[in-house]
Amino acid sequence: MKSIILDERQFGTHEECGIFGIISEEKQELARDVYYGLFALQHRGQESAGIAVSYDEDKVAYYKNMGLVNAVFHEEELRLLPSTNVAIGHVRYSTMGSSNVVNAQPIVFYGRFGRMAVAHNGNIINAPNIKKRMIYKGHIFQSSTDSEVLAAAINDYSTESVEQGIYDACKNFVGAFALLVLSGNKLYAVRDRNGLKPLIMGQKDGNIVFASESCALDAIDAEVIRDVMPGEIITVNTDGSYTSRYFAPPDKRPCIFEYVYLARSDSVLDGTSVYESRYNCGKILAEMCNIDADIVAGVPDSALVSARGYSDVSGIPYVDALSKNRYIGRTFIQPSQSMRENSVKIKLTAFRNNIQGKRLILLDDSIVRGTTSKKIISLLRKNGATEVHMVVASPIVKWPCYFGVDMDTKEQLIGGYRDAEEICKLIGADSLHYLPLEKLAECCGCGNFCTGCFDANYAVDLGNFHSEKLLFE
Ligand code: SF4
Repeated sequence: MKSIILDERQFGTHEECGIFGIISEEKQELARDVYYGLFALQHRGQESAGIAVSYDEDKVAYYKNMGLVNAVFHEEELRLLPSTNVAIGHVRYSTMGSSNVVNAQPIVFYGRFGRMAVAHNGNIINAPNIKKRMIYKGHIFQSSTDSEVLAAAINDYSTESVEQGIYDACKNFVGAFALLVLSGNKLYAVRDRNGLKPLIMGQKDGNIVFASESCALDAIDAEVIRDVMPGEIITVNTDGSYTSRYFAPPDKRPCIFEYVYLARSDSVLDGTSVYESRYNCGKILAEMCNIDADIVAGVPDSALVSARGYSDVSGIPYVDALSKNRYIGRTFIQPSQSMRENSVKIKLTAFRNNIQGKRLILLDDSIVRGTTSKKIISLLRKNGATEVHMVVASPIVKWPCYFGVDMDTKEQLIGGYRDAEEICKLIGADSLHYLPLEKLAECCGCGNFCTGCFDANYAVDLGNFHSEKLLFE
């Protein structure tokens, strides 16, 4: 059985951040619920983890460090966090700001209304401008993250109340943000006006819970109430009562890449099951492609569901072709180029007995840089596959993302300047087939999505935020 070593950062695209928050009437060990919630959101960020809890009315205790949730938090750390009415947590994958503990979240600070903590998922694309203005006014910053800018701006605008501060600050943010803010005995949940990042609300035994994905509500046996709406601020009190207001008219354009790759298959985003979306992508691809082959397989984990859909419609048997080793020891993943090339690795192994002498259809969720696909195809051939036909459950990724998904420049993308035929040659496949964008949108619930990385049709008008990174043709 042959195997290959893959860099985690090349293994598909990457996770973003995950956030989780809970508020209760009685003081409870809420840090434990947050721990389990973050554990369920681990796929969204593996660099750092943190939990903040309020206590004594206006104090905040917190712990954050680099590493996976279960490496950062043990009994000892959880016991240090007092029983509380409000707790929030964060797992991080950095797309803005470097990967070190100063940039780990939640961000905890002294604000106009006492101690506060903020957990953020997304990218504020006008953060550099806001930061410049604030530094000029005398603010100081400790980290290089847009999340600290966001926290400082909320505080700056909080002249009457924290809620007012969130309302006014959010009106000025351009980009993607799902936010949880802890202040005193209140929990605030916010989603940007396009709803680019997911945020769902649930309840468990009268406690109100928020999470990036529904799988984290399931992890603590919480029931779904509803999604936080684009442009909405929800303010929750400890008795479970809550109010809602909008800082901007909603213009719902959630990130379609959440369905393709980022979210967990067992999550439901904005009412649409990620599993069903991926399964339907596989079904449609089977109807579209007429490939003569012996077996169908998927690249773990997100493409396995699509492979099942393909197999069910085509009648070509589904097999396991690749195994991803989940138990390779690692501390944390740093996103620097040197780490990409040299360090944290993930081992992928082929099931030789399943594929030897077979013509294989391989489903993947997307091809971003192409390096992983090339290595996988070569691995499958070395293990005896006679043909490898690559079938991708999304269109060609042609454009960068500015909203927190790690696809920085057109040059990094194998499809940035190439068509399917050229990509097919580069990755060494026998044939290559992509799912058209309109079919993908159909599978994801037919909504109005951000599809910027596929067709430059971004949810946010980037006109005023061009930089050297924005390489439009
Ligand atoms: S550009 Fe792509 S990855 Fe980024 S938010 Fe839009 S759809 Fe998602």
